[in-house]
Amino acid sequence: MKFDRIEITEGDITSIAVDAIVNAANNSLLGGGGVDGAIHRAAGPGLLEECRRVGGCATGEAKITKGYNLQAEWVIHTVGPVWRGGIHGEELLLGRCYESCFRFVEPYRIKTIAFPSISTGAYRFPLDAAVPIALAKIKECLEKYPSVDKVMIVCFNTPVYDTYRSVLFSR
Ligand code: ADP
Repeated sequence: MKFDRIEITEGDITSIAVDAIVNAANNSLLGGGGVDGAIHRAAGPGLLEECRRVGGCATGEAKITKGYNLQAEWVIHTVGPVWRGGIHGEELLLGRCYESCFRFVEPYRIKTIAFPSISTGAYRFPLDAAVPIALAKIKECLEKYPSVDKVMIVCFNTPVYDTYRSVLFSR
């Protein structure tokens, strides 16, 4: 498969101009640290207000809201698993996050979508284990949803960026 619909970039997901950005949220959807905090700060208070009405999200699932002050029209909030040694279904749940996000692309006509590196920050999912899962699922979803033109993976730091690039181009 050609990889020309996957773009790996280093930067801040809140400044990316795509139809939808993905938030690595927590079960409450009421904001937190890391990418979640950054998205809420950039989107403004309307996002928190709408998230309150949504009423939470189970691990591995996803909910959608508007993007408010972000350039992205939509925010897809997904809740990655907290790494607890890898014996609690973490890998399955992480893959499910990506699948859950893609379920919104057709009903919301999302053609461009940006993901952060879900679960690999505060939730401590080892990067070397998370990246192959993320890329395999994204590739699978790109085949399933041909209407999507571009998936961006937005890496906040160089080790994350290097890991994504080496896994993407090694197979
Ligand atoms: P989780 O709780 O799912 O681990 P975190 O936000 O703690 O979520 O971390 C997930 C990833 O998002 C980490 O690689 C972290 O460096 C990255 N990150 C933090 N802020 C941003 C941002 N503004 N844009 C993109 N990625 C970010």
